[in-house]
Amino acid sequence: CGVFGAVGVTDAASFIALGLHALQHRGQEAGGIVTYDPEANFQSARRFGYVRDNFTSQKVMETLPGSIGIGHVRYSTAGSKGTTAIRDVQPFFGEFAMGGAAIAHNGNITNADSLRRELIERGSIFQSSSDSECIIHLMARSLQRNIPERMKDALRRVEGAFSVVAMTRTKLIGVRDPRGVRPLVLGKIGEKGYVLSSETCALDIIGAEFVREIEPGEMVVISDDGKLTSSKPFEQQASRFCIFEHVYFSRPDSILEGRSVYETRRQIGVELAKEAPVEADLVCPVPDSGTPAAIGFAHESGIPYGMGIIRNQYMGRTFIEPSEQIRNMGVRLKLNVNRALIRDKRIILVDDSVVRGTTSRKIKDMLLDAGAAEVHFRIASPPTMWPCFYGVDTPDRDKLLAAQMTVEEMRQHLDVDSLQFISLDGLYRAAGVAEGRNNAKPQYCDACFSGEYPVAPTDMLAKGFEL
Ligand code: 5GP
Ligand code: SF4
Ligand code: MG
Repeated sequence: CGVFGAVGVTDAASFIALGLHALQHRGQEAGGIVTYDPEANFQSARRFGYVRDNFTSQKVMETLPGSIGIGHVRYSTAGSKGTTAIRDVQPFFGEFAMGGAAIAHNGNITNADSLRRELIERGSIFQSSSDSECIIHLMARSLQRNIPERMKDALRRVEGAFSVVAMTRTKLIGVRDPRGVRPLVLGKIGEKGYVLSSETCALDIIGAEFVREIEPGEMVVISDDGKLTSSKPFEQQASRFCIFEHVYFSRPDSILEGRSVYETRRQIGVELAKEAPVEADLVCPVPDSGTPAAIGFAHESGIPYGMGIIRNQYMGRTFIEPSEQIRNMGVRLKLNVNRALIRDKRIILVDDSVVRGTTSRKIKDMLLDAGAAEVHFRIASPPTMWPCFYGVDTPDRDKLLAAQMTVEEMRQHLDVDSLQFISLDGLYRAAGVAEGRNNAKPQYCDACFSGEYPVAPTDMLAKGFEL
């Protein structure tokens, strides 16, 4: 998901809509905005579909007045797979003794089931099936006298990954979980305006200046007169940022941890070309997720780069499409072979990841149908062998190709001439860790590749998931 908040600006809702539009790649199912204005009180609009289709009309935007607000773009992860109801669309709102508050959450709470059970037993009435709603109910039960303190109480009980933006009538709040699994950045706009965003690309679109990242375990509270206070409400933990944000999830024009996402992806291609060279005529990306790595691969290998596959720009991310059927159809709706270019050539096909293997197989078939002489697959991440429980929607282990097969079996299954994945160390080097992965103390979360979960997946373990 993607989160965005603004305070101290005229017409916060239009900044938020623009910000969410720039974060649309993080969630395409639904979006919502909450604002506060002294006359209109709290107002919210939550809709299915794209930001550009919902939050551009004057009719909707004029219902969201005020100089403070937050927003969210959603795609469903663990818990509510593919069954989003409008009541699951964030931000969530709660009315407390000291006034209202709204929250928007990116990540996934790994002990949400047990928290929900406990809260329901003690009288909470849940409105949605979302794990994030627990935060509001935990805040309601806190005895603290202001909302930031209640949020701290609530989030200390929450396990997993969270980057949260929240608001009261006068304050914008941003928090990252102690390991900082999901991103969150701070920007400045105008005289005394501040914004919080999942990624820096959303600062660019509104002309905000990047100030800094919110640190792992940090909470910032920004009041409407431009005063910012910071605290560290959690027990200190080693940072475990999601390495898959660098590989796929974030936009390539964003800066994460002071590093260009594009440059990391290009560098992955360079590493791949060193680790897994092959004689061929053309390096082609699976667009758009494989493009920067293919550019790096071509550069390092000296083999020409070409657009052997053309993407229909009017299709979203297949990855984020919750239904299997549409995802299967999606490949042809979205990608087509550039026949004239690939005919009789030995192709190196570069993609970011193999998950279920459906995309890869179809693309390979399309290339061979169009007359490619050979197809060599190079993948910009290690084999995805484990599900993510921290906010990226990977399927169960039995649907993950790499959990079922060896690399050679996968090569046969996909029926390609060769198949190689980047090593975990190569990926770390590309992400700027010169010495590679520290196996005793990994610098990133890489659980979907290594099976080493930095936060125990409490609910999943209770359901019988085996590590
Ligand atoms: P596959 O067809 O192997 O399931 O999907 C791999 C391709 O689709 C990659 O290009 C990746 O960008 C995207 N993708 C589709 N579904 C997922 C998913 O659930 N997780 C991840 N990490 N990538 C996915
Ligand atoms: Fe990111 Fe993978 Fe960790 Fe999930 S399991 S947070 S996708 S690195
Ligand atoms: Mg892709």
